[in-house]
Amino acid sequence: MRIREVEVIPLRIPFTRPFKISRGYVGAPGRPGEHVYLKVVTSDGEVGWGEARPMPSWMYETMESVYTTLKKYLSEVLIGEDPYSIIKIHRKMDKIIAPAVTSGQPFAKSAVDIALHDLIGKLMGVPIHKILGGKVHDYVDMSAIISGSPDTIADYAKEMWRRGYRCFKLKIMGDVEEDYLLIKTLNETIPQGLIWLDANQAYTSYSLHLLLKRISAVENIICIEQPVPTYDFHGLSRIVRKSPIPIAVDESLFSHYDLIKLISMNALDILVLKVAKSGIRTSMKIYALAEAAGLSCMGSGMTESGVGFTAALHVFSTMDLIAPADINGPQFLEDMLVKGLVIEGAKAMVPNSPGLGVEVDERKLEEYRVEVKI
Ligand SMILES: [Mg+2]
Repeated sequence: MRIREVEVIPLRIPFTRPFKISRGYVGAPGRPGEHVYLKVVTSDGEVGWGEARPMPSWMYETMESVYTTLKKYLSEVLIGEDPYSIIKIHRKMDKIIAPAVTSGQPFAKSAVDIALHDLIGKLMGVPIHKILGGKVHDYVDMSAIISGSPDTIADYAKEMWRRGYRCFKLKIMGDVEEDYLLIKTLNETIPQGLIWLDANQAYTSYSLHLLLKRISAVENIICIEQPVPTYDFHGLSRIVRKSPIPIAVDESLFSHYDLIKLISMNALDILVLKVAKSGIRTSMKIYALAEAAGLSCMGSGMTESGVGFTAALHVFSTMDLIAPADINGPQFLEDMLVKGLVIEGAKAMVPNSPGLGVEVDERKLEEYRVEVKI
């Protein structure tokens, strides 16, 4: 049995509410999210699904680059291969698009990695979590994303609390006074809620010091994620030495190669895992290295729809994360494009059917499909 056919499907999925971070819009009504679905078909007719969720203001890949990377380069790697040969296929992908300093088009490679795991799970008749060692949790607790201004976030935070969310990931923008107001408002609105701050690179080690002084009395802050730019490992290291609040790293960490550098520089307390940026296989490698280094992990996402979201459920179900995962497609997207996903309040159930364990609704793909113009 070999991989016979690969289809690359670019999509735009509308946002039901605005989501803004320090680097710009993730999406909003009228500003749909861009996704690329990957369909991998074997000679036996079995189908594996992958998803990439490019967001160029966050990381350099675009919908167009993911499309051309998959279509022109990585499809060629897949055709004729045994889908069980994930190690060999990753080596071939890294040969054709070199992981020079970066992981080399990691979002596009993640779509391939997810599709292969879906396919292998279906061929073996087991859910992906069993391929990874088996789930230790039946569901994944989710955090609620909070982004906006002090006068708009309170009502929404209350609504999410009523829906069962207990951890609130607040997007801060890099202005000490405005961010302090946001944090204070959230803390006063939901005094028992855990607060996970994400600056998305908006601070320097100096300006973060000012924010830390300003928020010293606010309890319940579990971490500050990615305070400084992606390349600023020295800044992270200075902050980790001084900050009373643990520092989490996201945009500075895509692979276990990045993690060993961060560990050697004492530049993090917590790391943020995302299947969207590392795929399934590299996420497991990062997790193993984190365990050896005594580092705690958090789970996050890129507002992926059903395929990427469910891949994250399988991965996170095998781990002990220190906070509810910020996997946020269901919070923002008009449609998740799959059947069989079960979400109760803030809990997303881990599927037990083969592969991803959800069924891609191909009629929906046609509804949201777009032409890539280059
Ligand atoms: Mg982040």
